[in-house]
Amino acid sequence: MTTMNRRQSIAAAGGLAVASLAGGAATAQTPDRKMGYAIVGLGYYAVNVIMPQFKNCQHSKLVAVVSGDPEKAKRLAAEYGLPKRGIYSYDNYDSIKNNPDVDIVYVCLPNSMHAEYTIRAAKAGKHVMCEKPMAISSAECEAMIAACKQAGKKLMIGYRSHFEATNLEARRLANSGAIGKRRYFRSEHGFVQRDPSKWRLKKALSGGGSMMDIGIYALQAARYMTGEEPIALYAHEQTDKNDPRFTEVEDMIEFELEFPSGVIASCMSMYSANQNHYILMGDQGRIELEPATRYTGNRMWTGKDGRETEVTSPPGPGSTQFAGQLDHLVQCIRENREPIVGGEEGLRDMRLIEAIYRSAREQKRITL
Ligand code: NAD
Repeated sequence: MTTMNRRQSIAAAGGLAVASLAGGAATAQTPDRKMGYAIVGLGYYAVNVIMPQFKNCQHSKLVAVVSGDPEKAKRLAAEYGLPKRGIYSYDNYDSIKNNPDVDIVYVCLPNSMHAEYTIRAAKAGKHVMCEKPMAISSAECEAMIAACKQAGKKLMIGYRSHFEATNLEARRLANSGAIGKRRYFRSEHGFVQRDPSKWRLKKALSGGGSMMDIGIYALQAARYMTGEEPIALYAHEQTDKNDPRFTEVEDMIEFELEFPSGVIASCMSMYSANQNHYILMGDQGRIELEPATRYTGNRMWTGKDGRETEVTSPPGPGSTQFAGQLDHLVQCIRENREPIVGGEEGLRDMRLIEAIYRSAREQKRITL
């Protein structure tokens, strides 16, 4: 395998233009003031993944936390040097409207709470970053979009892969024709969900099982690597209902998407195996990522004429997918443009997920 320096390869191929379009470099007219984020829900993703990323941001800073646990909120506020006025509970959350430090609310709660906390943020006059899945139904997604529109505020979904260097390069290569005509996509995304008491396994809180969680990465990648929207799908669920973890939600769900060009995407989502992979095959080569959509360490190979080439990516400070995501929303607010992964993108996925569940339930192909 040939390993090449990723910075060189991206720059040579013009990929920096793609990366800066999505992740964003500072523009000449960018004002100095960083915009303030309030994080709602201090769970694993918020505390361990998102909060430590503000140090890598050019345009975003953490200014407030919202939590049901006052001790945790106080401890984290102290750790991040937040003022007392930046500490909220779920009860006084709406008073965030009176805090001029807060420009954006980042909803990091269980899925069933995304709609309520997004709509309340919009009503408080704040822009919103909402974690994936956008909500637990397309009706909720529509209500969230309407609330943000009515308030004149931006809504973005935390689809971090759109800001991740390896995925951006994979997309650029696919779009450049480097592998010829796209023919077939395959992805498996899963992790082992061990604890039956987790909210992720309670349908009222999660809205569904692995598909609502890790399966979205396969669905998203199928759409952005083909650059098309599916016209039909077929899904098949396989869940051991005697397993105490899966009494309410699905474990494995396999879904096949048919695209207008004739490309087929075959995707697997699961809570019973660790896997994080996708491959796109064209008539002149292939692009393969494994792991494909992790927080760090994603790897990519291109294959052509029997030769495999690894393309490596050392992410430097300020260039992480999380910082890119956080700063992108700020830039969209400043320049009054729609985020590349706005509410409509979350809604599109939710409609597809609903169709996937319906197909699995009714055991039939669904045209979209
Ligand atoms: P978590 O269980 O670690 O945290 C959830 C937080 O919500 C906790 O602070 C908890 O106290 C709070 N909460 C409030 N009401 C609750 C209730 N009724 N039941 C349970 N918790 C309640 O979960 P997480 O892994 O941080 O996930 C939060 C959100 O972030 C989810 O929507 C998830 O899909 C998303 N997420 C995204 C990524 C990503 O890579 N983009 C990764 C992980 C999680």
